[in-house]
Amino acid sequence: MPVKRSWAEPYKIKMVEHLTMTTRLERERAIADAGFNTFLLRSRDVYIDLLTDSGTSAMSDMQWSALMRGDEAYAGSDNFYHLEAAMRRHYGYKHLIPTHQGRGAENILSQLCIKPGDFVPGNMYFTTTKLHQELAGGRFVDVIVDEAHVPESEFPFKGNVDLGKLQRLIDEVGADRIPYLSLETNVNMAGGQPCSLSNIRDTAALCQRHGIRVFLDATRAVENAYFIKLREPGHADKSLSEILLEICAHTDGCTMSAKKDSLVNIGGFLAINDDELAEQAKNLVVIYEGLHTYGGMAGRDMEALAVGIEESVQFDHIRARIGQVEYLGHRLIDAGVPIVRPIGGHGVFINASKFLPHIPQSQFPGQALAAALYVDGGVRGMERGAVSAGRDSETGENILPSLELIRLTIPRRVYTQAHMDVTVESVTSLLEDRDKIVGLAFTYEPKHLRFFQARFTPVGADRVLNTAD
Ligand SMILES: *Cc1c(COP(=O)(O)O)cnc(C)c1O
Repeated sequence: MPVKRSWAEPYKIKMVEHLTMTTRLERERAIADAGFNTFLLRSRDVYIDLLTDSGTSAMSDMQWSALMRGDEAYAGSDNFYHLEAAMRRHYGYKHLIPTHQGRGAENILSQLCIKPGDFVPGNMYFTTTKLHQELAGGRFVDVIVDEAHVPESEFPFKGNVDLGKLQRLIDEVGADRIPYLSLETNVNMAGGQPCSLSNIRDTAALCQRHGIRVFLDATRAVENAYFIKLREPGHADKSLSEILLEICAHTDGCTMSAKKDSLVNIGGFLAINDDELAEQAKNLVVIYEGLHTYGGMAGRDMEALAVGIEESVQFDHIRARIGQVEYLGHRLIDAGVPIVRPIGGHGVFINASKFLPHIPQSQFPGQALAAALYVDGGVRGMERGAVSAGRDSETGENILPSLELIRLTIPRRVYTQAHMDVTVESVTSLLEDRDKIVGLAFTYEPKHLRFFQARFTPVGADRVLNTAD
């Protein structure tokens, strides 16, 4: 029998960044000043920052040295060609259109393909993706499998498209009202849950039969490839790079937030196979982002991204990255904390409705729990529930999603196992004191993507966590 070995990081630490240690009183003031919204905290007031895995990765020494090779030419920078080669090698698409980050690519794709009155099916919404589809006049339709909405379901591919739901939409509105299907890998809002390669293949085949394009949200496609290798029969012997190429080969192009999988602090791209559509995208990118050979990125950023893509597909890297997330998840499960199962790729999602059964969803238990966790331990998470879901674009009513979660997102290559332990201790002590956490009400609600800038007040109290000091 093989000896069991723990995962460990395939790197060592060369440089450290000091963190501020705050007192509970300081944190109570900070969260009140921030309107009980963790997005409005100053990062210097945060100890362990699990707000997002977006742009928060530690770059390698190779990436830092790549910055020095920036060719800051306005047009035709060498770095663009290096990035194009890396994208083609690992994602396999024909044309690269760089953008400042993922939403820049979403804007261009949505404007090019969606007409008012169109429907855009997708395997669960993502905030910026859906908003750009709506701004272009489209309506997002969720076609993810039902298991994705059930936090306790152990289904290994909760990101899968439900082909029945997709077929029903096609029958109802007609394929000519569906410009493309938006396919996300390692679905963020579902808890970082993967799609199987067979589901991607079948979804693409169904779309192709109806002349509907498929665009991938490739933001976490490498992490998805890892789960395919581990969980889907027939792929264990393939490299991550081979699986990634196979995923992409079923689609017509992708939008990419390089701030996640690709290990850079800023950047993204749109990739397209169709020559004519790519030509139009290159024309539109000039309006919103910059010339088509930099699209809002400095030359040095494109170079760091090219190196980041190569590092991101290394098996040892992803094994340690997801290993750390699973370590945190298993420790929380052992402590009796209700989390979304199976443990996802980029973070652990705590089921806030179950954690705080005394707070109705209309008082935003996810938002309240994120604020309370910050007060308790200086750990910053993010709400992914009713605040993030926003209002129905037609009725104006609050959407109350089936998942009311807080996300503890793990930046890549940044925190240690001891940081994970401290996080578990804080969540566990909150679980014991959970009846002291109160709900929240809006004091300010912005029109777009309200979760970023909304402000709240505790309902019937002056603090969100009413423990004696
Ligand atoms: C982050 C993200 C985006 C948007 O990318 P930005 O780089 O933040 O603009 C799109 N889709 C998914 C799944 C994401 O996680």
